[in-house]
Amino acid sequence: MKKLVVGNWKMHGSRASNAELLQGLVSADLTVTAPRADVVVCPPFVFLSDVAAALKGVAISVGSQDISAQAQGAFTGEVSGLMIRELGVKYAIVGHSERRSYHAESDQLVAEKAKSALSHGLVPIVCVGETLAERESSQTEVVVARQLKAVIDTLGDQLVQIVVAYEPVWAIGTGKTASPEQAQAVHALLRAQLKAAMPQAAAVPLLYGGSVKPDNAVELFAQPDIDGGLIGGAALKAADFVAIARAA
Ligand code: PEP
Repeated sequence: MKKLVVGNWKMHGSRASNAELLQGLVSADLTVTAPRADVVVCPPFVFLSDVAAALKGVAISVGSQDISAQAQGAFTGEVSGLMIRELGVKYAIVGHSERRSYHAESDQLVAEKAKSALSHGLVPIVCVGETLAERESSQTEVVVARQLKAVIDTLGDQLVQIVVAYEPVWAIGTGKTASPEQAQAVHALLRAQLKAAMPQAAAVPLLYGGSVKPDNAVELFAQPDIDGGLIGGAALKAADFVAIARAA
């Protein structure tokens, strides 16, 4: 399966720093990775338009970090898939653990955001993952299965059109990466759950996220059920992000 490498810029950047980062990505010519990996960057909403314009004709796609579950209406502060699709955006991250914890997003809301993304022609990148306390109390399987089940139940046959990212919360931005074996074990469970829901959904790309760096990417991406990565901190440094994309 072709790998997918997605950079989540979180709430970082300015017009000047984005231009420098994009220049670094464009000049590295990621088209050489194109036969083996698709590359996506996810800037904050306000920069989507600039970034999409800067990447026109470049083999790097653009995604958002979130999306409203609604298409339009009296939802102050929200941004819909309908709006960002117009900018040339192709992907939308939904259910990132920072949204689930700081904005109290429920499994069902995340599933509705995934459905909304699909209805506007965007590919949802659905994040799932357990906290450290959940891992230490042997709840990892139960938590990720519950998070994914809400999406399975809500999407029906559209399940085949999504991307899933396993991001153990304890590994995000902490420098602690899940070992390739730990990550693979959860990915295998997610793959089995998707396949049980719908045989064709076994082909849903499964990304790993959580302190992926150039020096651990090769080993992580070599696991049979790891189809790429969702990259936070290292996506802000052109050299690191390029090295991770090449590792794929
Ligand atoms: C993320 O925010 O999705 C992430 C994986 O962050 P980091 O790579 O910094 O751990």
